Amino acid sequence: MNISMLVGLLQNIAILLAFTLVYDIIWTKETNFRRLLNRVFAGITLGGVAVLLMLSPFTLMPGLVFDTRSVLLLNSGLFFGPVATLIAAIISAFYRIYMGGPGVMMGVATIVFASLTGILWKRFRPNWRKGNNILELVIVSYIAHLLMLASVTLIKEDALRQELLKTMTVPILTIYPLFSILVGRLLINRMNNHKLKRELEQSEARYESFINRNSDMMFMKDENRRFVVANDMFCKIMKKSREELIGMNDDEIFGKEVADRYRDSDKKVMDTGEIVYYEEVYKDKVTETAKFPISLGTTKIGVGAIIRDVTIKYKKREMQEVLLYLSRLSLLDHDLNTFMEKVHFHMKRVIKADNFFIALYHKEDNMYSFPYYVDEYDKSDYSEKAPLENSFTDYIRVIGKGMLINKEAEMRISETFPLNQFGDDCLIWMGAPLMDSSLKEVIGVAAVQDYHDENAYKEEDLVLFEIFANTIGIFIERMTNIKKLKEAKDMAEQSDRLKTSFLANMSHEIRTPLNGIIGFADILLGEIEDPNLKEYTMIINSSAHRLLSTINDVMDIAKIESGQINIVRENFDIVPMLTDVYKFFKRQSLKIDLHLTIPEESGRFIYSDKIKIQQILINLVNNAIKFTNEGYVELGYINEEESVLMYVKDTGIGISIEDQKRIFERFTQVDGANKRVYEGTGLGLSIVREFAHLLDGEVWVESEPGKGSMFCVRFKSN
Ligand code: ADP
Repeated sequence: MNISMLVGLLQNIAILLAFTLVYDIIWTKETNFRRLLNRVFAGITLGGVAVLLMLSPFTLMPGLVFDTRSVLLLNSGLFFGPVATLIAAIISAFYRIYMGGPGVMMGVATIVFASLTGILWKRFRPNWRKGNNILELVIVSYIAHLLMLASVTLIKEDALRQELLKTMTVPILTIYPLFSILVGRLLINRMNNHKLKRELEQSEARYESFINRNSDMMFMKDENRRFVVANDMFCKIMKKSREELIGMNDDEIFGKEVADRYRDSDKKVMDTGEIVYYEEVYKDKVTETAKFPISLGTTKIGVGAIIRDVTIKYKKREMQEVLLYLSRLSLLDHDLNTFMEKVHFHMKRVIKADNFFIALYHKEDNMYSFPYYVDEYDKSDYSEKAPLENSFTDYIRVIGKGMLINKEAEMRISETFPLNQFGDDCLIWMGAPLMDSSLKEVIGVAAVQDYHDENAYKEEDLVLFEIFANTIGIFIERMTNIKKLKEAKDMAEQSDRLKTSFLANMSHEIRTPLNGIIGFADILLGEIEDPNLKEYTMIINSSAHRLLSTINDVMDIAKIESGQINIVRENFDIVPMLTDVYKFFKRQSLKIDLHLTIPEESGRFIYSDKIKIQQILINLVNNAIKFTNEGYVELGYINEEESVLMYVKDTGIGISIEDQKRIFERFTQVDGANKRVYEGTGLGLSIVREFAHLLDGEVWVESEPGKGSMFCVRFKSN
């Protein structure tokens, strides 16, 4: 290889390198690159470059020039596609023909082979760049240059061809493919660079719009806690430009006190690497902040933050809490003033209510009373009723709906409604009617007012205030109803007391003469001889007894009902008590036998009401005797571990299972053939049950129709 060949090669390398720049010129955008016009332009440019290459060849002998157009055209085919490559090929072919000489055929063939190899490779291996592209480049370069070598045969003169093969075979099979591979790699790199650049631009744009179009505030601070990123919203809320903010620290922006607080959370994030959340009140907003660690590209860690304005959400939550509280509050029993104080306290959480009152309307004299009145300035005595005619309050009552009244609204209202001013002049006034629960009648008005800020209330506050007013209205009505109910209850209790005392009197009035009748009938029975008269007297006597027992039963029931049964508990021995009951019945001439079954002679103590238990047993024995025609009745008790069970057993008519369930109800008698035979009121067993329950005892019956019954009562021993 001589010097001229080397110079030519170097020149070619330079031009080839310049060729790779064509790629940059044409590749402005992916879409532009694909446009036909662009391809034509690329083709012409590439053609120009090829001509340039041919202009600086190394000349082997006159008319036999070598250059690297094959490298150019092969790569053009591989990277620029058929249109540009064909144009470039045609231009270079023409120029080669124009140059003339013995190598024309070979020169043109080289142009055709290189371009076609590139174009076809790209066509049939469209993804060649994605895999092992070096290998692909090696193969495609060798194909193109082997073809170039083959085209040497197109040279007619033998000697020339021999000479050419001798000198050019090695470069064609080494330098040329090497150049092709290098240029190919270079182009791939450029292409990737372009791609990366484009992706970077896209990601920049995404990032930019993501953080700047966001309604949340966002910022990033470096390891020294100086701002390095601030989004539009953050700049807006801080009222500073981005240029101003970047580089500042918290102290400079917020002042020391606030900055100290932020330092703590920043430090926590940087030290622990955790996300820190907090809520804070910033000016008139409530914000929710999430701070998180960010990597600063080195080993250093900074702080990123997203701050969301949650004022509305917070207010809503606060409102929900207050409303829930209100609904609970109105169910509790308070006096009106305590209730109003609580309502006022919670109202202040959601509505500006330094001045708040309620006025209750009294139809009868067209006046208002003020059960609750709080005002910054007006300290008048509001314990008295006042007329308030044509006031805002009166207006709200008349129209029956809530309203916000500022100066402008006041003017408007006064055109149709004659307004009078009461109290101090406020800038804005908000009132809502207190309705009764039917929502038909306005029972009063609730109002808040502000002396300092004409924008203290907005329409949404009115909705909320109306809810407060409704709750107050319902509470007041409930209080009124409770008062009425209490009065009614007092009256009912009063009349109940009258009824009971009437019954007590009546029973006394009836029992006294009855005792007279019974007593004298008894005497007469002893005196009278005439059997007819004796029978009549016996009828008088037994009728009087029945009447007496009925009156006693009715009296007991009346007492139970009105809760007037007095329980007198004492520790007593049940043995003598049972013996007394036994003797009481034994004294009467009974139609059947009566036994007393007691496990011990004395000393079975229980703590209960002796008289009531005695009454229970008398009732049960009475029934047993009444419903037993043959056999016996047994009265007794059984000791149990912690209780004692007293029973009255008979061999009488018995009670069906069905009836056993009912007989303890009031006025229940078992229906049947015997109905007329056994007299009674159906009250006895219900009294027994009531008494047993009052004494914490239980009572039940075990019975079989036709065989007899056993009534049991069980009481705890103590
Ligand atoms: P009465 O005044 O009718 O006896 P009670 O409440 O004492 O009212 O009894 C209700 C009914 O229970 C009786 O009418 C009777 O049918 C039934 N009864 C009560 N005790 C007995 C008993 N020992 N044997 C059979 N039936 C009974």
